[in-house]
Amino acid sequence: MKYIKNYINGQLIAPVLDEHIENIDPSRGKVYSMIPDSNQQDVENAVIAAEAAFSAWSNTPKDERAAIMIKIADIIESRLDQFAAAESLDNGKPVSLASHVDIPRAVSNLKFFATAIQHYASESHNMEGQGINYTLRKPIGIVGCISPWNLPLYLFTWKIAPAIAAGNCVIAKPSEVTPMTAFMLSEVCAEAGLPKGVLNIVHGLGHKVGDAMTKHPKIKAISFTGGTNTGATIAKIAAPMFKKLSLELGGKNPNIIFADCDFDKALSTTIRSSFANQGQICLCGSRIFIERPIYEKFKAVFVAKVEKSKVSYPSDPEAKLGAVVSQPHMEKVLSYIELAKEEGGTVLTGGHQVKLEGEYSEGYYIRPTIIEGLAYDCRTNQEEIFGPVVTITPFDTEEEVLKMANSTQYGLASTVWTENLRKAHRVANEIDAGIVWVNSWLVRDLRTPFGGVKNSGVGREGGFEALRFFTEPKNVFIQN
Ligand code: NAD
Repeated sequence: MKYIKNYINGQLIAPVLDEHIENIDPSRGKVYSMIPDSNQQDVENAVIAAEAAFSAWSNTPKDERAAIMIKIADIIESRLDQFAAAESLDNGKPVSLASHVDIPRAVSNLKFFATAIQHYASESHNMEGQGINYTLRKPIGIVGCISPWNLPLYLFTWKIAPAIAAGNCVIAKPSEVTPMTAFMLSEVCAEAGLPKGVLNIVHGLGHKVGDAMTKHPKIKAISFTGGTNTGATIAKIAAPMFKKLSLELGGKNPNIIFADCDFDKALSTTIRSSFANQGQICLCGSRIFIERPIYEKFKAVFVAKVEKSKVSYPSDPEAKLGAVVSQPHMEKVLSYIELAKEEGGTVLTGGHQVKLEGEYSEGYYIRPTIIEGLAYDCRTNQEEIFGPVVTITPFDTEEEVLKMANSTQYGLASTVWTENLRKAHRVANEIDAGIVWVNSWLVRDLRTPFGGVKNSGVGREGGFEALRFFTEPKNVFIQN
């Protein structure tokens, strides 16, 4: 049995109490490795290491910091197959997805922020006749990065990369559900020569490790991605301590499909945006609104195509969907399908667990599920399911669809499908969301602001927004 280790002060070590929790392979439903069950003392040790490293790291020239980050990225890239296999085993996602999306994106995150920091500039404000203000951007010090299980290394590096590029030292906690590639990253960091204490990875449970990080007075900022309730718990603790917070939370994203769309493109992209990663991407569209003139046609082809999507073990090259991440998560998703039926919904396809053969018979597989006939304001259409379950709803007017689209507590992302440019601009402007994709989905430019409105979060990640988050401005005025 493999034992994952913490990465503290440049060392791969067991947690202080040498206690562990089980790590389950969701494709087989079997324990396959052990995760440190770290506690407050492990976090404390990480903070001591980070504190000792901060002065040297924050004074290391940007190009030297960048060179180490690029070396880390290059090593991951050279082991892409190993990383993709590990990510898939840990999470249940198809290997093809991990090797085309998750791991390449982790590499890009590191390279992007290694170079972004070299282009980062701060403002100056001239006061004619009096003097000049210039604004320094200083690293914060020790910062915390807490990430979820759905895109493990992708989201972990999305936080760590800007934090260390900006000169901070980091205490990072991956999800206890998917810790493996974070562990592999720690091995790579040591190999690439990242100075000890700059990045410390403490594995374990949210209410122990995450909570200890949130409460630690020397961790001055928390960048968190995860559920809305967890975000609220963190905010409650961190706000009176005046910590900087970036919260990327849940979603219930609408896809708005107008009758004048490019039908085939809207259809094929909607299949991806519904079921990629088993629907476990915060940006997946789970409420699909289709304009009435094309509703029946869209529904028929959508259902027919989704029925052909293969649900299979992650290393099956033909798998369109792998396993969902855990048994409790599978049960949660299935319970929402039951709720949808109670609320009067009709399951058009899917709606049940899938039992694979042989070694995968205990895995957590669900057929991609499409439901119709639900009110826009019922629980199924208001609460985040975060699995391979979507609802379809017809609409007649822009006003009506905007009302339905904007009716949830969330506001993360949205798609709009129309060939009418004016309509696209108008609707994009009216949707309550941090991100709108017109005639596309999940096209990501790492320079753009990323985040949600309403209960989908506070703050923005991406590009200079992330570098601003991980630095403190200090204004200096020089009198003429
Ligand atoms: P989660 O909130 O349960 O856990 C996220 C992380 O927080 C984990 O590392 C967990 O251990 C930690 N944690 C749990 N309790 C904590 C506590 N009390 N204090 C500090 N840390 C704690 O979320 P999850 O189930 O891992 O991920 C799924 C959720 O993440 C979904 O709601 C999804 O929408 C959201 N998500 C959002 C984005 C985004 O960018 N907005 C991206 C991906 C996922």
